[in-house]
Amino acid sequence: MTRTLAEVAVEASDCTKCRLANGRTQVVFGVGDADADVMFIGEAPGFHEDKQGEPFVGAAGQLLTRMLDEVLSVARHDVYIANVIKCRPPGNRDPQEDEIESCTPWLVEQVSLIQPRVIVTLGNFATKFVLQTAQGITRTRGRAYPWHGRTVVPTFHPAAILRGGGESSRQFLEFRDDFELVRETLATLNRETAAPQPVAVKEPVVVPEAEPAPEEQLELF
Ligand code: URA
Repeated sequence: MTRTLAEVAVEASDCTKCRLANGRTQVVFGVGDADADVMFIGEAPGFHEDKQGEPFVGAAGQLLTRMLDEVLSVARHDVYIANVIKCRPPGNRDPQEDEIESCTPWLVEQVSLIQPRVIVTLGNFATKFVLQTAQGITRTRGRAYPWHGRTVVPTFHPAAILRGGGESSRQFLEFRDDFELVRETLATLNRETAAPQPVAVKEPVVVPEAEPAPEEQLELF
């Protein structure tokens, strides 16, 4: 039987699959609506996330929360927020290959259970990992990518915006544009799946039986 997201989170909470378990305060699994249409994926927890057990709670997280409110008109608890890596790397160093490999099954399970329609990758690391591309965020951002039946919208990491001049920077305008693209993508998807209006039919219509949806536990990354 498929596990719930909460059950997976409990199992992840004592994960010792890699060396990051030694230095963490706690596993930062993810937060938000288990049934969200939009999932945000960052790199790895930082100092504050490690202490509080929640992704994106520092200054970068505050900018993310603001964009959610101002552009998407949603609260943090309406979306799902996670990282590729669930434990803080010491000194915020880059995650290593074997750490990424050990942690990937948690993210795969999150995506499989949440089934988000749109995934927003925050920054270079998450974007390269999810899209399996060597191209950096400056080249990849600004458009939506079909990905395993979903849509990926890459954008800058909010911490990069804060480091690079904040709201007066060109990057900030592009960051905002990317959130607009998320909003438009969701609106289009919602229109496409809106219930069809009833029509008067003279002949009875034979509706073929729907194919059962294949069990989605994909080789995502
Ligand atoms: N940066 C990330 O990539 N993730 C967090 O949760 C916090 C900062």
